[in-house]
Amino acid sequence: ARSSENTILANGESSYRKEDGVPVRHDHWIGGRDERPAGGAYLPTVDPATREPGDEIAAGSAADVERAVASAVRAQPEWARRSGAERSEVLHRIGDAIEAHADALMELERACTGKTPAQLRMEAGMSAAYFRYYAGVLRAHGGRTIDQGARHHAYTRFEPYGVIAAITPWNLPLNQACRALAPALAAGNAVVAKPSEFTSASTLHLGRLAAEAGLPDGLLNVVTGTGPDAGAPLAAHPGVRRITFTGSVATGRRLAGVAADRLIPVTLELGGKSPLVVFADADLDRAVDAAVAAVATNAGQVCSATARLLIESPVHDEVVARIAAAVERLEPGTDFGPIITEEQFRKVLGHLDAARDSGLVPVTGGSAYTGGPAARGRYVRPTVYAGVPPSAPVAREELFGPVLVTMPFTGEDEALALANGTDYGLVAAVWSGDVARGLRLAERIDAGQVSVNGGPLTIETPFGGFKDSGHGREKGVEALHEYGQVKAISLALD
Ligand code: NAD
Repeated sequence: ARSSENTILANGESSYRKEDGVPVRHDHWIGGRDERPAGGAYLPTVDPATREPGDEIAAGSAADVERAVASAVRAQPEWARRSGAERSEVLHRIGDAIEAHADALMELERACTGKTPAQLRMEAGMSAAYFRYYAGVLRAHGGRTIDQGARHHAYTRFEPYGVIAAITPWNLPLNQACRALAPALAAGNAVVAKPSEFTSASTLHLGRLAAEAGLPDGLLNVVTGTGPDAGAPLAAHPGVRRITFTGSVATGRRLAGVAADRLIPVTLELGGKSPLVVFADADLDRAVDAAVAAVATNAGQVCSATARLLIESPVHDEVVARIAAAVERLEPGTDFGPIITEEQFRKVLGHLDAARDSGLVPVTGGSAYTGGPAARGRYVRPTVYAGVPPSAPVAREELFGPVLVTMPFTGEDEALALANGTDYGLVAAVWSGDVARGLRLAERIDAGQVSVNGGPLTIETPFGGFKDSGHGREKGVEALHEYGQVKAISLALD
């Protein structure tokens, strides 16, 4: 294999693509340079759209984590001493660099996720936007003064934790890394990122682009490798003062335990099984489009996918028929991508098989593609189960694939009971011609974000879980607060 060092041009453009079938090897990004893994081993990646082998990434271990944390600890104090305006300048330039090199970044992303061009464009845009948003928020952010009477003066300062560990999953790799890194860096921290072992290349390249954009060496380090070998020693490292994690409930629980032992805070963005509630008086065209988007967007591999459709009884069958017709028109490779990992592909198909064995018959879909080009990749046919019992596993568990379930309901109270009837609480959507009813429901649903009649959930709207979907908030001004600790200082004036 060739080393990635030789394939990155000085202007940050990447020629990571494999030539003559020779895979490119990506080393760690530590202290502003490529660093070979201490153990000398690399992990393979696969293009899930074709199942062809892709690039290789460094198989990180505790020794690599040690170097990365040491580099972050060295670099952070100088960054923290800079003014917000100075840090903001650098973050703006990182946003510009992501935009300028979006094609290279997204080619790296595509090669290990098989995502569609439209999906990749959206993620590249969001990734740049995170840096620009926090570059702006940072300049308007500060402490407060506290009235203690004329003889004293007290005020608060917002101080960074030091080194943040950012552990991220494979579904929206660069996007999720930027969502955590931008506010963490804005607040004056250094970061050691551990992207998913299946999708590390874009985050590695971001490290290089950020350095070229003026981020001091050591502020953003990227260590790659598996969860147990690279993620676990990172979370446990005494130099790490806060963890931000996006991923599964099981790993989130484990990391919360590590954080509890170490008495450090942790942000957990976990899974979801989010409801989309449709009342009979809703704009059904738009509600149907929203339901179809939950299948098409990243093939349902989105933690906030509203894949549980609660539909008011009189319009249930009509809405199901319209959704089924629309998802049957979706083209694999154009409108939606493959399932990104082999394990997840098997998990989704396992759920479909178990549903069939339990007597559920899909309105459409229900299997992988068996013919045509999609059969080469890990493509699952868009699937709709109508009128499922709320207790069915497909109705309760996060499937993370292009699968919708529907349940009919009668009245607001039943809609609410069904909406809140899972262990999760990440997002919800409500569609109704009666806006007051929409808001009533929004205020009673247990979820960190609720969209009424398609209200957009953007970088500005804080995002995070109720219940098993986690705690802490990303996006919004709230995420900046996550990455700083408050110090109060009081001065006697006489
Ligand atoms: P995962 O929990 O298996 O892995 C996530 C990350 O944690 C990876 O980088 C992995 O290497 C690392 N990891 C695994 N074990 C670890 C350990 N013991 N110590 C430290 N790190 C460890 O999740 P996944 O399969 O990559 O992602 C899919 C899941 O992520 C889904 O359940 C989905 O709902 C969730 N998700 C949530 C959000 C959100 O914002 N709430 C966003 C995307 C994905």
